[in-house]
Amino acid sequence: MAQSPAAAAAPRLALSFDVECYYQIVAKDFLGRAIAPTDEVLTNTSWILDLLAKHGKKATFFFLGNVAEHYPQLVQRAVAEGHEIGVHGDVHDYVRDMDQAQFRAEIERGMKKIRAAGAKRIAGHRATAFSISRNNLWALDTLRDLGIAFDSSIFPFEGGRYGIPDWPRQPGKTEAGIAEVPLSVVTVGGRKLPCMGGGYVRYFPLAFTRWCANRLHRDGLTPVCYFHPYEFESRKPSFSEAETAGVDPEKLKRLARFNLMQGIGRGRGMRRKLERLVRDYDIVPVGALAV
Ligand SMILES: [Zn+2]
Repeated sequence: MAQSPAAAAAPRLALSFDVECYYQIVAKDFLGRAIAPTDEVLTNTSWILDLLAKHGKKATFFFLGNVAEHYPQLVQRAVAEGHEIGVHGDVHDYVRDMDQAQFRAEIERGMKKIRAAGAKRIAGHRATAFSISRNNLWALDTLRDLGIAFDSSIFPFEGGRYGIPDWPRQPGKTEAGIAEVPLSVVTVGGRKLPCMGGGYVRYFPLAFTRWCANRLHRDGLTPVCYFHPYEFESRKPSFSEAETAGVDPEKLKRLARFNLMQGIGRGRGMRRKLERLVRDYDIVPVGALAV
């Protein structure tokens, strides 16, 4: 079928989702325990899949093994609808906190559950909190050994908690032999700034996101966008008194700040933004950029 001129001219954008449940991350980071995912992840991931299906576009879904185990229907649907499948670990342990053997075990557990849910091919990996840095580049060797074709975890900028400042902005083959598709940063006034996902989209008008995408295209780069299903949630998170009883008050204060920072409950605005990105761009899975 011939493409319309508008469709042919649409600029390219790689779209990805780290499929995890908001409550799981909070329970692990602030309450110090692992919990099963809730229907929050089912509802919001289903909405994302509906949107992509409506526009006939394909993206990458980096699943937590734990989510695949509890909601195999999400993996099955993503596979059936032609999306690319990746792994985001099993229970969201951070790469920065693991040694190589622990990392391998975490990824293997995640992959096993994603396969059991119905994915034949697991093409890529996205590290929890982008936590692959200069200190743990051995993670790339492990991923290669596990048959993963590409990684998309490295932020080429100086972040407080993540990033490798001098990493190239364009995708390429790493020394480990696996492809790396770095997250997008734009250069403004000589500084490299992240822009194409999560809070960078939540807190700025969509016009800013488009401006950044244009800058990346001008530099010969395809924007790599990342989101989490919970960013499209409109209800405010609630943790019962029973759940937070006995938790250090300082941790609860940090949790309140985290909730605010994550902007949970602003899902309606985020849904509109994602609808426009999906409508206006030539959406590709992250693996399409792997070289
Ligand atoms: Zn994550």
